[in-house]
Amino acid sequence: MGRSRANRWQRTAAAVLVMAGVTFAVAGCGPSADKPTGGQRKSSRTAAPATAERAAERQSARLAVDARQAPDDDGSGAMGENAKSSDLGNTSTPRRPRAGFGPAQPPTGPRTLADLVAGDTAGGKAAAESPAAASIRSAQDDAKPDLLIDDTKAAGAGIRKLAGKHLTLYTDVLPGPDVDDLTEAFDRAVPEWCRYFEFDPARAADWHMTGFLINDKTRFVDAGMLPADLPPFPNGYARGKCLWLYDQPDGYYRRHLLLHEGTHAFMSHFLGSMGPPWYGEGMAELLGTHRWQDGVITLGYVPLDKSETPGWGRVKIIKDEIAAGRGMMPAAILDYGPQAHRQNEPYAWCWGLASFLDSHPRYQERFRQLRHMVPDPNSTAWFKQQLQNDWPELNEEWQLFVMNLEYGYDVRRAAIVRKDAQPLPDRGATATIAADRGWQSAGIRLEAGGRYRLEASGRYQVGKTSDIWWCEPGGITLHYYQGRPLGQLLAAVRDDTQSPAGLTPLARPEPVGLETTLTPPAAGTLYLRINESAAKLSDNAGQIEVRIRREG
Ligand SMILES: [Zn+2]
Repeated sequence: MGRSRANRWQRTAAAVLVMAGVTFAVAGCGPSADKPTGGQRKSSRTAAPATAERAAERQSARLAVDARQAPDDDGSGAMGENAKSSDLGNTSTPRRPRAGFGPAQPPTGPRTLADLVAGDTAGGKAAAESPAAASIRSAQDDAKPDLLIDDTKAAGAGIRKLAGKHLTLYTDVLPGPDVDDLTEAFDRAVPEWCRYFEFDPARAADWHMTGFLINDKTRFVDAGMLPADLPPFPNGYARGKCLWLYDQPDGYYRRHLLLHEGTHAFMSHFLGSMGPPWYGEGMAELLGTHRWQDGVITLGYVPLDKSETPGWGRVKIIKDEIAAGRGMMPAAILDYGPQAHRQNEPYAWCWGLASFLDSHPRYQERFRQLRHMVPDPNSTAWFKQQLQNDWPELNEEWQLFVMNLEYGYDVRRAAIVRKDAQPLPDRGATATIAADRGWQSAGIRLEAGGRYRLEASGRYQVGKTSDIWWCEPGGITLHYYQGRPLGQLLAAVRDDTQSPAGLTPLARPEPVGLETTLTPPAAGTLYLRINESAAKLSDNAGQIEVRIRREG
């Protein structure tokens, strides 16, 4: 057993050496989102025939990240990035984006309610009562011509009008359950945007947008609702007080686009900017990802299953990109330029980073401070500076996040629990590991080449609802996760005294089960966890006692 373990450690170390120093870069246009994939891991409750070894090899083939990759620390990148971000949605852009959302344009002029012109401030309800033409001005650019809306002409062209408090939506899409309630969903989202950005809802009471949900583009061109000066956009675009969406086959994704563009519009109008590309698109994706159920909208929702968000596909894009060797590290995502979002993949990476930072207990507070410095040209540089001391650990946690990403990933519970480590006393020590968390430091430092006996005991719950699994440290051998029995105790040894480089050892754990002998090739702190999906930690309960003593 010891020999086999040692071999495995050697293979791990070799893989890390091969991978160290290799960083990812996005190249080319990936497959469209959300196609079914045979490779995507299913529920952790389903049996996986693959062995642990094969699972580990697959992981190592996918992941080649350098945790030492650090952000620019001179801030110059962020300055340039912000300067470039003012080009977001540049209307002179001649090329048609290949995929993704059309970027929204940040404001270039005053962004107050006083900018609103008569007929727009009246809101959808009032406008709905009057068939007269309404003039909507692009508030962020006074030089642009007004958009003259003629309801009678629109109706003649087969474009109907849906009136909400904060959104009037013109559409030629046939009535349906995921169409007619779009204005209501938007109205419900406004207080949620206010809440997330800590913005006084009273100041948004009269905010009103006009939207166009387009099936047949020519109708909108003929009705004067698709101005010639808009850049080409494949899915959605927001400018000033207007937003445009092409209809989508999936009701979820149609609403997602509306909320994505709505987030841009809200930020531009009330915060004065969308911020740098990574933040603007990250926020639009974070808050555009939602649940809409029984008249209640939840923004920043983490979908629990693919079926909740048809057409969205962000999880699949990230998994596919990693499988193709194009995984992105946080520093590269922070450096996205204004043209990056002509492709689909950056939307997924920006969602991933925003979702990770917004939920992670160690980074959430600093990330959320960005809400109040959106127009600051140095916001990204400031953020990088705030993270400077945590950068290696952040990269390590990011590796675990993207490698193990799946629907419902619980960033908070999966966050690594770190603890100061002490040498193992002669009498040994006992560590207590919670079943409902990710990696947890045992607080014990192991020496290189030492032989350590680990014996685990305890009975804990993996899952509740209809299928409670009472589990012991050996795991449940009828159910597998990542090629190992569900609930099995796992160990990894990570050197807390060095900045992690290459693939984190936590990505390639050793099975402990009820007992094992570890012989770490390098000194480090012992980390333990149970083998369980990061999406399914919340319904676990109980703990494991792990007795650690030195052998020989
Ligand atoms: Zn966008």
